[in-house]
Amino acid sequence: MAKTIQRSHLSKRYPGLSFVGVPHRPDCSEALRMTTVDCHVCGSDNVELLAVGEDFEYRTSPDSFLTVRCQDCGLVYMKHRPDMCELDRIYPVDYHAFNFSSKQFGFIYKVRRSLEAKRLLRACKGLGNDAKILDVGCGDGFHLNLLRDFGNKSWQVEGIDMSDHAVRAGREQGLTIHHGIVQTCELEQGSYDLALMIATIEHLDDPLTVLKSVKKLLKPGGRVVIVTDNTDTLDFKLFHQRHWGGYHFPRHWSLFSPATMRQLAVNVGMEVAELSTIVSPVNWVYSIRNFLDDWGAPTWLVNRFSLNSPVSLAIFTLFDNVHQWLGHGALLRVVLQNPGSPR
Ligand SMILES: [Zn+2]
Repeated sequence: MAKTIQRSHLSKRYPGLSFVGVPHRPDCSEALRMTTVDCHVCGSDNVELLAVGEDFEYRTSPDSFLTVRCQDCGLVYMKHRPDMCELDRIYPVDYHAFNFSSKQFGFIYKVRRSLEAKRLLRACKGLGNDAKILDVGCGDGFHLNLLRDFGNKSWQVEGIDMSDHAVRAGREQGLTIHHGIVQTCELEQGSYDLALMIATIEHLDDPLTVLKSVKKLLKPGGRVVIVTDNTDTLDFKLFHQRHWGGYHFPRHWSLFSPATMRQLAVNVGMEVAELSTIVSPVNWVYSIRNFLDDWGAPTWLVNRFSLNSPVSLAIFTLFDNVHQWLGHGALLRVVLQNPGSPR
């Protein structure tokens, strides 16, 4: 049942929850409609309280959001999340994934484009000339553009996204983008060699069901490459009570570690072909930004920590390289393979 939950409700429901030190925020608009969910990996409702936070980045609602850890499988997830009818509100038109362009992000766009192109071509290694690739949750087509510009010209490259804004922006660039979700969109089953889920799985309302649908779209031996925030990191340990950038309140609903990702693969019926971590400065930068913003730091200082700030991105890229070397980079990169041999 959809319902509204705000901080006072959370205090009553979870008496052990500490709001000490959490500044009061006046309501900035109407509360969101919310839905209460159980663990998406194992179905358990046995949880440990982890965090309470707000929409630090876009201020789309006055709500407080509760993130928990499943006591049975370890998945970190938002227990009371915005209802699906609220998606247009929590993904505003200025949301970065809809507008990640050279015009808006300049030098940072160019650096990320070059880095992501290398990572993407690595994911495509071994594909034949007739390969079909599907980018699930493609946003405005950032990765599709990279495949078109740097990949094999004979590949059939498609995306799917449920956002009107994103689909429109991608189609305006001449990209093939299906509007909808993989569970219901009429895509040819067993026809894709590779699916990409880059910064997608954490946004999904039911990652297990979506991944099962993606599996049906893949050929025997086909692969899905998942890139998502890693909870097995130092930044998570330091900031997990409220300010961790990976929570991206209220838009990241399921957050994985290597262990929970392996469990998800078992439940979906796919093999883990690769599991590693990759470097990203974003969660470090946003954890510090959220901390500063929450405690009323001056705007000039808060703005030093953002996707528009090359200096902080560069510093924390170096910093996360150390963690990557120790096997705990900020992002998880997982390649799951459909059983059977590629044709
Ligand atoms: Zn669980």
